[in-house]
Amino acid sequence: MYSLFTIHDLRFTGFCDSLFTIYHLPPQMIYLDNNATTRVAPEVFDAMRPYLTDVYGNPSSAHSLGRRMKSAVELAREQVAELLGAADPGEIVFTSCGSEADNWAIGGFLEQNPTRRHIITTRVEHEAVRNLCEHLAEIGCEVTWLEVDGNGELNLDDLHQVLRRDTGIVSVMLANNETGVLFPIDKIGRIVRENSDAVFHVDGVQAVAKIPINLKELDVDLFALSGHKLHAPQGVGALYIRSGVKLPPFIIGGGQEGGRRAGTSAVPNIAALGAACELARKFAEHERIEKLRNKLEDKILGTIPNARLNGTPDRTKRLPNTANISFEYVEGENILLHLDKAGVCVSTGSACHSTTKESSPTLRAMNVPYTAAQGSIRFSLGRYNTEEEINHTLAILPEIIGKLVEMSPYDKELKALYTARGGA
Ligand code: PLP
Repeated sequence: MYSLFTIHDLRFTGFCDSLFTIYHLPPQMIYLDNNATTRVAPEVFDAMRPYLTDVYGNPSSAHSLGRRMKSAVELAREQVAELLGAADPGEIVFTSCGSEADNWAIGGFLEQNPTRRHIITTRVEHEAVRNLCEHLAEIGCEVTWLEVDGNGELNLDDLHQVLRRDTGIVSVMLANNETGVLFPIDKIGRIVRENSDAVFHVDGVQAVAKIPINLKELDVDLFALSGHKLHAPQGVGALYIRSGVKLPPFIIGGGQEGGRRAGTSAVPNIAALGAACELARKFAEHERIEKLRNKLEDKILGTIPNARLNGTPDRTKRLPNTANISFEYVEGENILLHLDKAGVCVSTGSACHSTTKESSPTLRAMNVPYTAAQGSIRFSLGRYNTEEEINHTLAILPEIIGKLVEMSPYDKELKALYTARGGA
């Protein structure tokens, strides 16, 4: 019966309160999937609300409402530039998402420079870069893929060796979406600048608002970000284009975004992205989130014998909010479903390949064994997580893993592993 009506319907249709009390809302979920997307912050919603209600008009219109819309876009541009440490707000161009920004950066550069078709990227990029580069390789570009080690880290000597005078673009993410491993874009940018004429593109989607960034001090030419990873709504992103770097327009049409990306601006979303950047800059929560992540990670690794960390154990080289942990010889999908049933949202590796059975390309590139990669769970924390939520997750997880261990067909391997690591 509950499924036939929403609570709102019952109230709206005048059901009395005593009857209402027999229907209960599903319990509050514990959301530990903030690398997939984040909840819109109330401050952000407040900032976008006027542009969905009273203040409307086309930002290209000359009348006062249009001018107010335009001011909202320009304020947001300043707020994004401020958070990124860009030298000039004019270096920020709004897009519809992070994938668009990544595609524009790489595809646009190649369109502008058709003879410079050597691209360098890594094996562990998000699909927005990886699939694009695979496509570009199919249509005649030469792509060099940098490998990572077992900790998910790059060897910068490899970059030195493959960088050529004719390399067009180097694309390296700042933070890996699955493991949280950070790549040293300061050193990479310097190597690129000193040894080639290539432009340096950074997929910064997972890093913005999680770690401090100062583009003024970095040799980065193009930098992509996405609003929904930092408490703005889905449907807005931005590309930082360093002054002097030329890209053809992503959409040809009107003169919006300085003629670089046509189409009427999504003012509510853009205002929201600006407010989200302001929130991240003024009320950073990195340290509190890191403490919670460390507690979760330490307890799991210390008490569950088949748990192993994916990504470097050096926490200074990882995002403060991410813990990617494999539970060996059990299925990550099963863990996810049990946790979901218990009210905890997590992800198996990247949300984008949660429908396929293949282990994630990132974990494969790190040589994580199949039986561990299949049992990988990404816990990604955010500004709304509390210590109680982490305690609750820690309280229910061992029982879930214990049940799945009992059902696992790998009983010999598990027994050996539990004996070796001192478990029950
Ligand atoms: N790059 C990275 C590292 C990501 O994690 C994501 C999304 O998960 C993207 C790019 C794509 O961003 P969007 O979802 O805004 O297209």
